[in-house]
Amino acid sequence: MERSGINMRLLLMLGIIGFSVIKYYMGSSINPVTGEKQRVSLTPEQEVAMGLQSAPQMAAEFGGLYNDPKVQNAIKTIGNKLVRSTEAAKSPYQFDFHVLADPETVNAFALPGGQIFITVGLLKRLENEHQIAGVLGHEIGHVVNRHSAEHMAKQGLLQGIVQGVVVGASDGSGMGTAQIAQYVGSMINMKFGRDDELESDKYGLHYMYESGYQPEQMIRVMQILDEASGGQRQSEFASSHPSPENRIIKIKEEIAKIKGQ
Ligand SMILES: [Zn+2]
Repeated sequence: MERSGINMRLLLMLGIIGFSVIKYYMGSSINPVTGEKQRVSLTPEQEVAMGLQSAPQMAAEFGGLYNDPKVQNAIKTIGNKLVRSTEAAKSPYQFDFHVLADPETVNAFALPGGQIFITVGLLKRLENEHQIAGVLGHEIGHVVNRHSAEHMAKQGLLQGIVQGVVVGASDGSGMGTAQIAQYVGSMINMKFGRDDELESDKYGLHYMYESGYQPEQMIRVMQILDEASGGQRQSEFASSHPSPENRIIKIKEEIAKIKGQ
């Protein structure tokens, strides 16, 4: 009886792991803009729908929309210029740009499908239109590269693996294994996030350049983010992103490539 109990758990564990791995690898598609093969289980239409549905709730988390139509329109104009001048216009996404009323949080983010937000806390720290374009271009990079959808697919995979290991180790002897699996899972997520940020920086720089903005201004954006995170309140934009020093090195390399073309 003891033995068959273990075997059942083992079978269940393998089943859960197997199912999530199959689900993950079946869900790959070619990115319509970048041509990259990606593991995503959402269609672009689902991404757009998901972004539009969650936008009001996301906005509410940051004090709602900033109550100044002139500022809102100025941001939309910059964002639309970036989309119009670049490959982003060929994407299936519906881009829109919003300023959030939260004056303390220094942040910008993109929902899947093209809804992009910048807090007034970050906006008031930026010094010119180029820098605003840098932030928005970076966020457009997240959307075009489908980072949210990739992240969701990856989390589904990780959840299955962690669940499988936990079920397999439920006799108490293997809790170490479960913890290791969870730790590895979070490490993969972390690394994934950093790669996404650097990739979005790269795309953002190209979008700036193609739209007539100065990509060098992105270096100043990094310094501004660094200054903002120096206070007691850690900037979410900066904390989920690689260190500004590393990003500045990569940004300078990419600008050299862009200008060398
Ligand atoms: Zn980012």
